[in-house]
Amino acid sequence: MKTYDLVVIGGGPAGSTVATLIKRYSPDLKVLVLEKALFPRHHVGESLLAGATPVLKEMGVYEQVNKHGFLEKLGATYIWGHDRKPWGFSFDELNTAFTSQGKRVSEIYTKAWQVNRAEYDHILLNHTEEAGVEVLQGARVVRLIQDQGSERITGVEYKDQDGLHTVACSWLVDCSGQDAFLGRKMSIRQYDEKMNNYALWGYWQGVRWNPEYLGSPELTRIFVVTTQHGWLWCIPLRRDTVSVGLVTHRQTLQHAQNSDQLYLNELASCQEIHSMLKDAYMVRVTPDQTRDVCAIQDWSYTSQRMSGPSWVLVGDSAGFVDPILSSGTMLTHELGQKAAYTLLSTFASSSDRQIQAYWDFYNDTYQTYLQAYRDMANFWYSNNFSMESWQWEARRILTQRDSTINLTDREAFTRIAFGYASRTESVGLFGSYAPFEALRLADGLFGTSWDAKSVAEKYAEHPLKLKENVQISDGMYYYWGRIRHTKRIIGENKEYLDLHPSEECFIDLLKNTCTLDTLSQTARSIQQRKELARSGIDLIVQLDNIGALV
Ligand SMILES: Cc1cc2nc3c(=O)[nH]c(=O)nc-3n(C[C@H](O)[C@H](O)[C@H](O)COP(=O)(O)OP(=O)(O)OC[C@H]3O[C@@H](n4cnc5c(N)ncnc54)[C@H](O)[C@@H]3O)c2cc1C
Repeated sequence: MKTYDLVVIGGGPAGSTVATLIKRYSPDLKVLVLEKALFPRHHVGESLLAGATPVLKEMGVYEQVNKHGFLEKLGATYIWGHDRKPWGFSFDELNTAFTSQGKRVSEIYTKAWQVNRAEYDHILLNHTEEAGVEVLQGARVVRLIQDQGSERITGVEYKDQDGLHTVACSWLVDCSGQDAFLGRKMSIRQYDEKMNNYALWGYWQGVRWNPEYLGSPELTRIFVVTTQHGWLWCIPLRRDTVSVGLVTHRQTLQHAQNSDQLYLNELASCQEIHSMLKDAYMVRVTPDQTRDVCAIQDWSYTSQRMSGPSWVLVGDSAGFVDPILSSGTMLTHELGQKAAYTLLSTFASSSDRQIQAYWDFYNDTYQTYLQAYRDMANFWYSNNFSMESWQWEARRILTQRDSTINLTDREAFTRIAFGYASRTESVGLFGSYAPFEALRLADGLFGTSWDAKSVAEKYAEHPLKLKENVQISDGMYYYWGRIRHTKRIIGENKEYLDLHPSEECFIDLLKNTCTLDTLSQTARSIQQRKELARSGIDLIVQLDNIGALV
């Protein structure tokens, strides 16, 4: 029987992210991906978010995706609720926070794509294979092999055109998407009754493009519009093809006699969409698309646990949040990266206690992300009044999660619509940065004050010391292929600051009384050793922000 360090069920974005990153950081590990379909295969989920792009870079596949010719997605237009006036934003608005400080965020944070998922997923899976992962397509996992009386999984049985085969593995990564192979077997899925939706969608050609909604002339925006029974997405996939989908509550579908007719009626009754599709006709975009009007359950869920002894869930197999935010694929890439780092840290450790702590961290991280996006999806569905009050509500939500943010109502709304849940949670979205580098980006994004000059003046003559009730705890963070241990400074309002390991000497200085000069000199000597440290002034600005200084 063949034996692998890692067997991955499913070759979608989750599977390709985990497998590729494992190989990138640990080329000697033996990794097998078992994919039941033959790629390219049809899939829903065509509007991507920029938050995934740093992970594509890390996987080494960014250039291929960028050059493939997918339409760039630079923003979105909405008509939501009673007010039929279109409004929208572009990702580039992120730069307003940074330009005020003479900076710009890299293009990778402000650009995404509108993709035919058959092509996108195929590029990723081919790249995974090129990275040295064994990939078997047309191989459906049908059975788990477990130690008797234990949850530990030691292998799987899969079926291909030649029959049944068995492989052994140290770890099993379930990336089987909504099939949730493991989650269903273990009955650990938890559905969100409030977001029990259904989606019907199809592809249209012969469209009269409306540049007001879709961006002109490059079709760089998606368009989202509410209808009587739900909302419609309109995602241009090519210059001649658009994906149009209806998301509606399950009950609406149950009451409809014919789901295809419900879809067509809803499109026809929506004036903004109807005017674009008046002369259009439906097409199929991949050979395996079997119906003109496709249908999928769109029920938000999470899992009680994201991992167990020798198994882990990633992507839609772990949890799914309604597509209103187009967040699915981004979360999948982001958390695929975290799963890969956790596996690599596990392989490198011989301490059971430490390994358990790594997986607890993974579980917490996953649940935090899902909860943040569920809150945001609820926010979309709960509001149907004026745009002004909606934007106000967005700022209320963000300020509640993080009191240091300083955004206008509109800016807050834009952050939520982009998929940035909060300042603290966004730190994790900036790929592999040291904690303070990620924090700097998040601070820029959320308008947290960086008024270095006034803070320098405030503390210039002032002895620096941590407040009595400030706590120092052990923390962890994800950084280039591993989970790193770090010291966390927790301010009195429970907001915190993670230090990079090379910066831990700051704590001793700050427990006693020191000066800005001492901190700055210490920072410089760390940097001279070619290690990472924020500047003395950045440190006190950030400590000031979490209310940690006397
Ligand atoms: C209606 C709707 C609209 C959406 N819109 C968007 C959007 O606009 N933007 C966005 O980012 N996301 C969107 N999503 C979410 C997005 O599609 C998913 O989050 C994303 O595809 C998750 O990737 P994955 O790799 O986890 O799963 P998948 O992409 O589903 O991949 C799972 C793979 O596992 C394989 N597999 C399953 N079972 C087995 C088995 N037993 N053995 C072997 N292989 C198996 C499958 O064939 C599949 O290739 C949408 C989802 C829905 C339902």
